[in-house]
This record gives sequence, C-alpha cells and structure tokens, in this order.
Amino acid sequence: MKTRTRIAPALLLLWLAAAGAHAQTTTPAAAARKAAAQTASKATAQKASAQQRAVPAPWRAALERVSADSMRGHLSFISSDLLEGRNTPSRGLEVAAEYIAAQFRRAGLEPLGDDGYFQTATWALAGRDMSGFRMSIASGGSAASVSAERVSLGTSVAGFNLWSPEGDLALKDAGLLKVDFNGGAALAREQVAGRVVLTELPELPRGDRARALQLLRDENDFLARMHALGSPLVVAFDRAEGRGGRGAGQPRLVDPESGARPSFFGDAPTAPLVTVHGAEAARLFDSLPAGATSATLTLRVPAPAETPIRVRNVAGLLRGSDPALRETYVIVSAHYDHLGVREPCDRQKEDCVYNGANDDGSGTVGVIEMASALSKLNPRPRRSVVFLAFFGEEKGLLGSRYYGRHPLVPLARTVAQVNLEQIGRTDDSEGPQVGTAAVTGFDYSDIGATLERAGEAAGVRFYKHPTKSDAYFSRSDNQSLADAGVPAHTVGVAFEFPDYHAVGDEWPKVDFANMERVVRAIALGVLTVADNPQEPRWNEQNPKAAQYVEAWKKLHGR
Ligand SMILES: [Zn+2]
Repeated sequence: MKTRTRIAPALLLLWLAAAGAHAQTTTPAAAARKAAAQTASKATAQKASAQQRAVPAPWRAALERVSADSMRGHLSFISSDLLEGRNTPSRGLEVAAEYIAAQFRRAGLEPLGDDGYFQTATWALAGRDMSGFRMSIASGGSAASVSAERVSLGTSVAGFNLWSPEGDLALKDAGLLKVDFNGGAALAREQVAGRVVLTELPELPRGDRARALQLLRDENDFLARMHALGSPLVVAFDRAEGRGGRGAGQPRLVDPESGARPSFFGDAPTAPLVTVHGAEAARLFDSLPAGATSATLTLRVPAPAETPIRVRNVAGLLRGSDPALRETYVIVSAHYDHLGVREPCDRQKEDCVYNGANDDGSGTVGVIEMASALSKLNPRPRRSVVFLAFFGEEKGLLGSRYYGRHPLVPLARTVAQVNLEQIGRTDDSEGPQVGTAAVTGFDYSDIGATLERAGEAAGVRFYKHPTKSDAYFSRSDNQSLADAGVPAHTVGVAFEFPDYHAVGDEWPKVDFANMERVVRAIALGVLTVADNPQEPRWNEQNPKAAQYVEAWKKLHGR
C-alpha cells in the first residue's frame, strides 16, 4: 500500500516563492492598481453607511461581536513559540487543534467529528534507520565509501522530493555508466540496462520560477527515462558542501489512501535517486571516465519502518433554522498547520520557529471568531454552517483533501465553501491592502459577487486580482471541494508579504483592526449565502470553471 510520494504542490510553491522573492519590486502597474484601490475604497466607504442600514439588525449585532482584541488574543496563543510552528504532525499542532476545539465548544457548536470536534485521519510516519546504510564505489583495486550524512534519498539538488524509496534497496558490484544530464535522451537501452547511472544534476535557477519548474520536470523525466531503459539506480553528485543528509533519515508522512493520487509530475515510474553531496564526492565523480566504466557500486539503503500516527481536522456545526434548508451546508475553513521549526538552528541564539501568524493563524482565528459571533444569532441562518480547521496544508493540502474524501456532511448538500488564507497582514508585496480582500477564482462562481455586495455593506472591497486570483485558485484548501463540484473559494488580504514562510511571520505584525473589518465582511457574505434559499452556482460562462461545472453536474446526478 505504499506509494512514491513526490513533490507536493504547496512545497513547490513555497520554494518558488522564496526563489522569486528578491525579484519583487513595485511596478508601475502595481502603483496604478494601488491608486485605483484607494479611490475605490473611498467610494466604498461612502456607500457603506447607506448599505449598513440594509443589513438586518440581528445580523449587524452578530457581526459587531467580531473583535480585534479577541482575535489578537487567539492569535497570540496559536502563533506563539510554544506551539513550535504547528508542523504536521507535531505536538504543537495537537495543542492548536485542542485550542480550536475548545473555542468551538465555547461557542456552543455541535461536534461534527468522529471524536468530538476532531476528524481523525490514521496515517503513518515512515522513517529509516540510516545506521544500516552502506555505499561504496570500487575502482582499480580501491574502494571509496560514502557515509549516510553525505547522501539524500530521492531529492533533487534543491531539496525537492522526486522519488521516495519504498522497501530496501540493495545492489552489489553493479556496473556504472557516467552520463551528462543533458545527454540522457540519446542513451540506448543496451548502454543503460542493469547499470547504475552517475550524473550531475544542474542547480535550480533562483528567481526564475518557470525555468525552475521546467528543470524539476526535466529531472523527473530523466529518472523516468533511466527507469524505462532498465537502470536500477541514478546516483547524482552535488558539489556544494553542507547540504548532505537531507531527506535520508527524517520521517515522512504517509497517507495510506494516497495510492491513486496522481503525482505532480505524472505517473511514469522513475529510477531511484541517491544524491551524494560535497566536494570529496565530486572529486570521485570527476575521476571516473565518461560512459561505461570498470568501477562498480555497492549499496544498501535500509527499508523504512512505519509508525502509526493520527492527524486531525477540527470541525463544528452551527445548525440552521429552516427545517429543510438546515440539511444543507456552508463551510467556513482555514488551515491551522504551518512549517514547524527551522533546522539546523540554534534555539538559544536565534529565532527558529515558523510562527505562521498570518499563514494561516489569521484564517484559523477568523474561523474561530466567526463561529463565536454567528453562534449567538437568533434566529440562526436558514442553512447550517460548518466551521473547519485543516491539518497539513503546508505539506500539500493534505487535510482538505482528506476532508474531500471523507466529508462530514454530504458534499451534494454542501452549497459553498469560503476558505480564509492570510487575512491578517496588510503589507502585501504590491503595497498596503487596507479595506480590501481578494477572492480566488473570483468569477468562477457567483460567490465572488455575493462577497462583493456584502463587502459594500461592510466597508471592504472584495476584488479579483488581475493575475493572482485565478492563479491561486488551485493552491489552497478550497481546491478539493471545488474538484468535487462544490462552489469553493479562498479569501485573502495579502497574497505575498515580507515574512511569507519565514520565522518573522509573527502576530504583532498583523493589522487586527483591518482583520476585524475583513472578518465582519466575510461573515456577512457567509450569512448571505447561508440564508439564501437560492444556492450558489458555478459560472457556466467562464471556461476556467468548466471542469467544476462538470463536477457539480456529476455530484448532483445531472
Ligand atoms: Zn497558508
């Protein structure tokens, strides 16, 4: 039941964002957008007072319970160093889950999980005992051995997981073939079959996302081609010092159901990859002649051992008031995990904790605050509202994908999902984002327009970012429900901010006054959807929504 896991989209995004970060500057287009935003927000504010009167008084009272101080309190705990960056899985993540459940309990939500408010996924951690690792290259009567600290298993030079070894891997006195990475396509089966291929993988270009992604694809294609030509193993050499050992001994999260999931690079099987790091290894590589050599390789990589673990989504329900519509559901969600602790890092001397205050402590706190505010409503909205906090987003949208496969309320009766991402910080790379919130896939469904109208009443401009709204649609926890056919979007304030995926993403940098305004506006949009007998629809006029329209039809048997 094990499967190769490869590069997770979210991790790729992480790296690509980091690679491009220093290339961001304020462009004239961004400045123009900023000016337009300021004008629009002035107009919005003028309209707002008139439209606030259109919001029913009980709703207005509920929205006013959303408070900056309350959210500052929640976020200062959830993003504190004590929770150690909420890695999936970790004790810090478990503490955060318990805290979220406690807030749902306080709000009086109905528990929706298999274990109170918890939806439990029983997964495993696969780790290998590298003390059994052996690798040596014998040439002309002498043998050079490579220690476990010098190798990575299955990762490219940049640390991306291209192949994860299953079971153990053992080779004795295997023949070697040294090839140029770019010459892989010219090789024939009789040259490669049965031989270990030695090569040097190129460095990923920094600051050029398209080329970096293409190179990762090329590396994956190289491994797939070597497998197809009958090579049992590719050994790559990395000249840089200090990068060894990555991906060798660290335990890896295993989702027992992931077998059928397509990998990011496609499904072609690849040859195993062992990367050897450091100048000494590079000298060994340089000393071997190109092509087939008389040198041989002996290798033993011990099999990983799996230990069961549990990871948990947190789920609570606010039951609707209409006898029929209460059996339909609107989901409000965010991911509560983050990146854990930076390593290697000296915790006595430097900041090592990825606090993830904005990403996505802010969304998590938005969910908690909205649950608390809306639970006091009398009457409640007609439909039921499900409040969800997902694990594992940073590892590749794991918690929301798990939910998509194991929905706690029927997907066919789930009418919408509004997912919150990075709603706390306003210092976007394109300039301050005050009183605005972007909706991903804005016009894929009519939810964007519903939020826009709610925003006009609440003094927030919901908008479609000209390039990022569509590009980010598939990169967040709305994707798994969208794939199932449920109109699902993510709302965020800043797409990119200075401490994105860095240890400086801490709660004092959050603009809580703005967050209060944004959460109230989102809450009004959610109430509007939850109270409207007409359910949201995908936009059949937008070709980018075509696959979701199809999924919706399938979900509803039409
Ligand atoms: Zn996030």
